[in-house]
Amino acid sequence: MNPDTGHPPSLWAATAAPAPSSPPLEGAHQTDVVVIGAGYTGSATALHLAERGVNVVLLEAIEIGSGAGGRSMGLVNPHFRVLPSQIKKLVGEELGERMNRAFHAGSDIVFDIIARHRIECEAVRKGTMELGNTKRGFKELRAFYEEFAATGAPLEWLDGGRIAAVTGTKRYTGGFIDRRAGSIQPLGYVRGLARAAQEKGAVLHTRSRVQSIAPEGGRWRVDTAKGTIRAERVVVATDAYSDDLMPDVRDCMVPMWANMAATEPLSANLRATIMPGGEAFGDTQIVRQYYRTDQAGRLIAVTLGHLINTPLSPVHRWAEAGIRKTYPHLGEQKITYKWEGMLGLSHDFLPSLHEPAPGFHVPNGYSGRGITSATTVGKYLAERILGAPDSEFPLPLRAPRRARFRALRGFRYEAALHAGRLLAMVR
Ligand SMILES: Cc1cc2nc3c(=O)[nH]c(=O)nc-3n(C[C@H](O)[C@H](O)[C@H](O)COP(=O)(O)OP(=O)(O)OC[C@H]3O[C@@H](n4cnc5c(N)ncnc54)[C@H](O)[C@@H]3O)c2cc1C
Repeated sequence: MNPDTGHPPSLWAATAAPAPSSPPLEGAHQTDVVVIGAGYTGSATALHLAERGVNVVLLEAIEIGSGAGGRSMGLVNPHFRVLPSQIKKLVGEELGERMNRAFHAGSDIVFDIIARHRIECEAVRKGTMELGNTKRGFKELRAFYEEFAATGAPLEWLDGGRIAAVTGTKRYTGGFIDRRAGSIQPLGYVRGLARAAQEKGAVLHTRSRVQSIAPEGGRWRVDTAKGTIRAERVVVATDAYSDDLMPDVRDCMVPMWANMAATEPLSANLRATIMPGGEAFGDTQIVRQYYRTDQAGRLIAVTLGHLINTPLSPVHRWAEAGIRKTYPHLGEQKITYKWEGMLGLSHDFLPSLHEPAPGFHVPNGYSGRGITSATTVGKYLAERILGAPDSEFPLPLRAPRRARFRALRGFRYEAALHAGRLLAMVR
């Protein structure tokens, strides 16, 4: 990781439009709302508040997008990994309905912000596919497809022939495409959100890690090493990159690593065979993997697990291994970037909002689906701060529930990933 920017040596760090300039916080200040953490949640909340004329200060420990936001795969998916009917079971019928409605419109919110604020982030809206080739995978995909299709979502079922033509791999025999979805350059997007917030009047301070938050005379006092801000409200938007600021919030998510790999730009001949229409896809292998391309024609893949570079591990460089298996005709195509980032898994794989005191808001727990959902949360949280009632907010309001044996569970998930990979190799 580059200590100045907080970014790993990723494709996104090498190709994103520059970040807006933002000095560290110094001295004592007052504002309406302090937002802590400049990822998608914090930057989108700051943008929506600033657009409505609220005075807002965005404080970031390192650099804009240095958490999961600037490292992600960039897939703009309008749904969680949890079925809409299951969401209703988990949070109740009425809230579940509201949640499904709000988040299914999430990709419209993302692409609308990109267009309105002219964010340079290679936005492509050609759909993403969920594909499978096993009985278990089909069962899961059919359930998703049927539930979403019943809500009128523009999903299309694809057979193996269509999939091979669209993706350039014969590995999958069925699945669906959701044309509301797409992909972005994720670091460019989060920087663009922060820049748009700044242009609308938000004040940005990077290299300003918040060390404490305390009530003071009916307001909140937020301290960094060199500065203090007093505000009516505070939003903590640190998700999986939460530090010791609020240990109970950090400990309600199980940390899970995901690793990414990107090839060098493919030749025109190869590009014509691999997702030439700009779609992206994920699969239902034992350990899931997602694939997309970028504007320069690189093939990019992500999968769960630590980026283990030691040859002692038989399954090291997982995302890269997936590329070679799914696209054997790429041969020894050079992998130019490999990096990793951390997801925060909540107990039910859904985000929620914690409000430990009046005027104190903590949304988190996106569980690997944060681009649409965190941007959507930013919009609804801004409305809530401006007075919208609970009955309009599309997230469960709940106290953090400490993930029991958190570190051990992270380790267990990682071990299970190794086992799943080994199984896939011998099959
Ligand atoms: C490899 C990878 C691939 C992914 N791919 C996708 C994808 O394709 N699609 C998708 O929807 N989601 C994806 N995700 C998930 C998504 O990136 C996250 O859900 C999302 O970034 C969460 O956004 P956030 O703004 O809440 O948190 P983050 O983006 O993690 O931002 C939190 C910020 O808070 C800052 N911070 C922490 N503590 C402090 C403090 N004390 N003071 C000030 N600042 C602080 C951090 O430095 C950080 O910048 C992926 C994640 C990873 C790791």
